[in-house]
Amino acid sequence: MTSKVIDKFLKYISIDTTSDSSKEETPSTPSQRDLADLLVKELKELGIEEIHYDKDHCYVYAKLKGNKNSPRIGFISHMDTSEDAPGNNIKYKVIENYDGKDILLNETKILSPNDYPSLKSHVGKSLITTSGDTLLGADNKAGIAEIMTMLEYFINSKDDHGDICVCFTPDEEIGLGTLHFNKEYFDVDFAYTVDGGALGEFSYENFNAATAIINITGISTHCGSAKGKMINASKLAMAINSLLPISEVPENTENYEGFFHLDEIKGNVGKASLKYLIRDFDKTNFEKRKEMISKIVSSINEKYGNCVELIIKDSYKNMLNIIEKEPALIEGTKEAILSLGITPDVSPIRGGTDGTEISYKGIPCPNLGVGAYNFHSVYEYACIEEMEETAKLLVTIIKHFSKEKEKSNKR
Ligand SMILES: [Zn+2]
Repeated sequence: MTSKVIDKFLKYISIDTTSDSSKEETPSTPSQRDLADLLVKELKELGIEEIHYDKDHCYVYAKLKGNKNSPRIGFISHMDTSEDAPGNNIKYKVIENYDGKDILLNETKILSPNDYPSLKSHVGKSLITTSGDTLLGADNKAGIAEIMTMLEYFINSKDDHGDICVCFTPDEEIGLGTLHFNKEYFDVDFAYTVDGGALGEFSYENFNAATAIINITGISTHCGSAKGKMINASKLAMAINSLLPISEVPENTENYEGFFHLDEIKGNVGKASLKYLIRDFDKTNFEKRKEMISKIVSSINEKYGNCVELIIKDSYKNMLNIIEKEPALIEGTKEAILSLGITPDVSPIRGGTDGTEISYKGIPCPNLGVGAYNFHSVYEYACIEEMEETAKLLVTIIKHFSKEKEKSNKR
């Protein structure tokens, strides 16, 4: 196990970069700077001249100048890891030539193909797992290692390429990854977040997302003399929830199906509140979902005298609106994946990515898989061969677009 991408990866996961959603500042945890410092040092050692390190907010930008007038391509990965599982003191395990059986992470935790069928596709390959107490950090340090390996390739080879920009961001896991992202240091025609799961995953659709907060004010009286007076806020909250379609919830939906997710409920007789996450890929259906909640609230207000307040906040939009205008990007990426003998897995992201925001900032930015699985959990693992292949894929994408440009120049 001596490949460059894996060496880098193991170095990066030794640094704890767990982000902290209770903090308002960026970076939310100072240790993210330890990884940023290391990456800046490595970029300098590679001989990259244009490095911009936003030390205040912990963003690392670097540009490898093109040796040819080809499309300028960017790659983005995030340095932080999710707070859903511990990210410090990671003791990884390497399983060579995986036999397809259960993997004992520790005395109590088993990584089993019965629970995680993706394991079945790695028989004969080598895996990196956790020891059952922490996450692995492949989300997203696998992406960082692959991007760094790709840069090293172009520095050492004389192959043609246009400008290559990379950016490593903090705090993606707490939704702040693009808060201080500066386009000025990332001058590209299009980019990729390298932050998906399996090798060959290529996604350019994500949910439209909004949050609905519903605050209900009831009338609390003594139970013994409540007749005709009491308005029980908690029961109105239950009534509101019962008016939403019961099947359109996360636990009953998949693929392109949208939902209302009751994320939080609090209440007593006098006061209650509900928080819903509204998600839909289709813009019209998304608007209809928001309307549905508004109508339900209006109907309760009519009956109980304006005791319900509704606040709907949009959070992010489907990047498809931007990416669908870039057929050359979609087709070119698929061709590059296919040229390595990998079938592109074009599936929608049932969530959002930093690429969503960046796409709406004017840089079309779909997402690529990194060759790792089960993010945000102690069952997270990476497939060594898939990570090596992903690093190769990044190189192939750049070469592919460089060649396409040459062809179109000759036409
Ligand atoms: Zn991620």
